[in-house]
Amino acid sequence: MECRVGCGACCIAPSIAAGSIPGMPEGKPSGVRCIHLDDNNLCQLFGKPERPKFCGDFKALPEVCGVDSNAAMQNILWLEEATQPKDER
Ligand code: SF4
Ligand code: SF4
Repeated sequence: MECRVGCGACCIAPSIAAGSIPGMPEGKPSGVRCIHLDDNNLCQLFGKPERPKFCGDFKALPEVCGVDSNAAMQNILWLEEATQPKDER
């Protein structure tokens, strides 16, 4: 599938490791907007060398991106939850 222009869910929902995004040295917690996502949910680093490689490598998939940005947010947040280490109590 083609990425939906203006969706931005994969720049908000996932956590991203420290040192991966320019200007976010602590990384990006799940659910927090990447600082490079503009008001139209477009990447301000698109086409620039400083854009992280994994951002360009990420491909839209129907199973993840769903039918709209809300569905994509839910799917990605669920994946985040499912892949977190469990609290050992
Ligand atoms: S979640 Fe999917 S459709 Fe939305 S911006 Fe990311 S790749 Fe594109
Ligand atoms: S750098 Fe651009 S593509 Fe990567 S997470 Fe931030 S806004 Fe999204």
